[in-house]
Amino acid sequence: MATSATKKTPAEELLEILGPVDRYHDHAANGDFGMPARTTMEDYLEPHAYAGPQSRLGPLEKVHAFWFAGMSCDGCTVSVTGAQAPSVESLLLGAHPGLPRVILHHPVVNIESGPAYLRAHEHALKGELGAPYVIILEGSISDETAAHAAGGYWSGQGEEPWGADGELRTVSTDEWIARLAPGAAASIAIGTCATWGGIPAAHGNPTGAMSLMDFLGKDYISALGVPVVNIPGCAPVGDNFTETVAAILYFLQGFGPLPEFDELGRPAWLFGETVHRHCVRGAYYEEGSFADEFGDKECLVEIGCWGPVVNCNITSRGAINHAGGCMNSGGACIGCTMPGFPDKFTPFYKAPPGSLVSTAASTAVGRIIKPLRMFTNDHLNREVRWDVEGEVPSGWSSERSEPGKVREAGHKVYDTLRRRGDTGKNDGDEWGKGGDS
Ligand code: SF4
Ligand code: SF4
Repeated sequence: MATSATKKTPAEELLEILGPVDRYHDHAANGDFGMPARTTMEDYLEPHAYAGPQSRLGPLEKVHAFWFAGMSCDGCTVSVTGAQAPSVESLLLGAHPGLPRVILHHPVVNIESGPAYLRAHEHALKGELGAPYVIILEGSISDETAAHAAGGYWSGQGEEPWGADGELRTVSTDEWIARLAPGAAASIAIGTCATWGGIPAAHGNPTGAMSLMDFLGKDYISALGVPVVNIPGCAPVGDNFTETVAAILYFLQGFGPLPEFDELGRPAWLFGETVHRHCVRGAYYEEGSFADEFGDKECLVEIGCWGPVVNCNITSRGAINHAGGCMNSGGACIGCTMPGFPDKFTPFYKAPPGSLVSTAASTAVGRIIKPLRMFTNDHLNREVRWDVEGEVPSGWSSERSEPGKVREAGHKVYDTLRRRGDTGKNDGDEWGKGGDS
């Protein structure tokens, strides 16, 4: 019986079934097939790239990035193409001093297709690419060994002459990943499906869906010694991905240390805080003010927000270009960045069980704190002269009622406390409503 030390990874099991490959497309014979623009993305962008010799400061002039889609909705692609800091365009054009130019191979955005699209993949497999490469997976890995046994595949990308007697056969996403990962400078999982399995791995799925990390195994390290990098989210914040890629590229270029990752392979500086700590509705939570329905401005915990226990930075970074993002635009957190999503967070839009104690506590504290703050706010929200003269000289003054006797007394106490700490004024006359100045 195999021990855990000798147990093969799912990637190794798949390659064992499929065997080695040594035949490739005859690109000379294919001519312009797959090249409607008669050029590749790399050659097309080369004249426009800003990365002239002056900005190519490090040893690397370019790095190839092979993007693969497993069991995915393509939402990660959509969010990354909208990234702004840095943008995909700036990475492709080598616009960041010191960064190598990124040569992207993406099945949706590249201008070459068919066998021409796969030419660089083949070069990478053969070790003839002439530059380092990283692999990027969106979507989860499916169990292709099960599909293979049934004569099919779950998700694939292109065909290669790897069938019996050189026949073309569809190459599954898993197979590309399994063959390319050992030689990659870095392997990056983007989105919750690729990082933890996500929705395709939810309870009851028939695909055996798993994460990139599970597929490659715990001992996987890239050719440059980096374990799988995970950037979760469903969909992820596009900037989280491009920023991490830029940080890794600086590392590859020798201009910086390997960025800090946590024990789950997430960029530590992006996923170290909970949603709640930076939520725009956090003060409502603290005061025990909770929304009854979507559209209310208060904290959403009682209608299903998991923010206090979820690692995600969307409330501070926004969904795109610092705009939008769950609570900022009215949505409750359903834990989409987390391992175990979605099963550990269902049923959605119901108060998380653990929230009962904390919301009861903040409701109790809020009942005391909130009126006191309103009290003080009422008095601070006035010019001192209005207090002295007993009127607000504004056409809007009819909108403001004068504080009643209880608030007046409360303010007196509060102001006495405040003035105790103000050594410059505590000997002077009181300056405020009810004072003698
Ligand atoms: S909406 Fe969610 S994240 Fe925001 S304060 Fe309420 S519980 Fe916390
Ligand atoms: S706040 Fe919650 S639901 Fe929204 S992106 Fe972050 S983890 Fe996902």
